Amino acid sequence: MKMVLLGPPGAGKGTQAERLSKHLDVPTISTGAIIRNEIKEKTQLGVEAHKYISEGKLVPDSLVISMVKERLSKPDCSKGFILDGFPRTIEQAQTLDSMTDITKVLCIKVKDEEILNRLSGRRECKVCRASYHIMYNKPAKEGICDKCGGELICREDDTVETIKNRIAVYHEQTEPIIQYYASQGKLAVVEGRDDVEDTTKAVFEALDI
Ligand code: AMP
Repeated sequence: MKMVLLGPPGAGKGTQAERLSKHLDVPTISTGAIIRNEIKEKTQLGVEAHKYISEGKLVPDSLVISMVKERLSKPDCSKGFILDGFPRTIEQAQTLDSMTDITKVLCIKVKDEEILNRLSGRRECKVCRASYHIMYNKPAKEGICDKCGGELICREDDTVETIKNRIAVYHEQTEPIIQYYASQGKLAVVEGRDDVEDTTKAVFEALDI
């Protein structure tokens, strides 16, 4: 299964991607996570991308596309993958189509007014990048990752001003992709619920798995 997960920031793409990845035994490719890692490692790409990510803007297509091309060429992607956060522009979607044949696209819908609430409560593991929420997806021990014991932190781009920019960017540049995939007959849509388990149930049902 070669899947794309679409949806606004805070829809729960990362969490659902993790669960699907385990179930389908294919890797998750999160462009946001790759970029944050490049920033942490202070690579040239990381330095370049940092100014965009910190303002809630999209990193230029050329940088992201070459990053994804390289990742998809790795052997672990041969039997499938789940793309989380890519494509985010029509140009990225068209380039992806020229690289591979996407099986299914799932869009998780969440209203704008809910996004702010969700993202301001989001926490991420500093070590393994697992995603939590202080209300809806709590770790067993506050501030500590269930999976690896790492410290949970607030992402740099989860501030109110940056979140507002990311929502605007989503409507302008990413939303047109929904229609792009709908016209290919590959799109399934689910409502993102507050409870993570409810969303997972809806996602698995929509995908017939
Ligand atoms: P995410 O973790 O998916 O919310 O992504 C965080 C940030 O990384 C975004 O706000 C963008 O600045 C950048 N980013 C991630 N994926 C892409 C992409 N496909 N195209 C451009 N920028 C991206």
